[in-house]
Amino acid sequence: MNTSLIAFAVASLLTIGLIVHLGILSLLIGAFYFLFGKKKFEILNSGLGPTGFAFAFSWNAAREPGKIKRIQIRLFNPFGKPTQVEVTRDFDPKSDDFAIDLDLGPAYATLLSAEGFDQARVEITLFSTDGVSHHKEMKAFDFKSKLEDAKMSAEKWMEEYGPKKDKVYYHTVSRSFIADPLPQTAAKKLKIASNPEFAGDFAAAGGAGGGAAAANFTVAKVWIEPGCIVCNACEDIYPEVFEVTSDSCIIRPDAPLNDGLKITEAAEACPVEVIKFNKAG
Ligand code: SF4
Repeated sequence: MNTSLIAFAVASLLTIGLIVHLGILSLLIGAFYFLFGKKKFEILNSGLGPTGFAFAFSWNAAREPGKIKRIQIRLFNPFGKPTQVEVTRDFDPKSDDFAIDLDLGPAYATLLSAEGFDQARVEITLFSTDGVSHHKEMKAFDFKSKLEDAKMSAEKWMEEYGPKKDKVYYHTVSRSFIADPLPQTAAKKLKIASNPEFAGDFAAAGGAGGGAAAANFTVAKVWIEPGCIVCNACEDIYPEVFEVTSDSCIIRPDAPLNDGLKITEAAEACPVEVIKFNKAG
């Protein structure tokens, strides 16, 4: 057998051995995590007085989906009296890490005050809805020390280590409060002396706005053509000449025609431009 063939065989064996070892290690890590990963029982400070017992429990809820619903504390006190005390209390099932403060009643007070307590052992068992139970055992002396040393309340523990609720996001509706521009209309603007937009047109006639006064004149004839919309503008300006009826406008029979400027003002104020006149001479 040549040397290179032997080297290849050794290398192959080493590789296979490495793969097998890695596989075994992985299985061990998984099993270790399943058995011991994350499980943690912690005694907290109860706010419920001498019979109160607060604790927190974290476990791998993904692997053990049952809900924790009951706690049992047992005192094994073979050298004291009573020799055994058992306290059991149900609570609302918990599906994730939790802390809770429970009043365990008089039996718990009996447990704590048992003769020979310091030589006894305490076993704490948590039961889940699917039949799995979690045990923790310690010397009664250590149990008492943990009770005395506990500072954190169940409420505080939940704030700091409890499951975090998903953030609530609020959706806002985006709206624009900028109004669309008003549609442009072809509405005709009233051309009268009181309309500031046409003030300049009547400045001469009014005389108050300054500027050179236009020379007045006499009108030979004034009349109304069809189309009057009975808006009263002409009568408001010169009622001695114009009379608005229910459906039109007429020229009064005795209308003075010597104030051509005022008649012009009324004619220009007419929105439908149906007032017509001829200058005299
Ligand atoms: S101003 Fe013109 S539309 Fe108005 S009432 Fe006189 S004539 Fe008629």
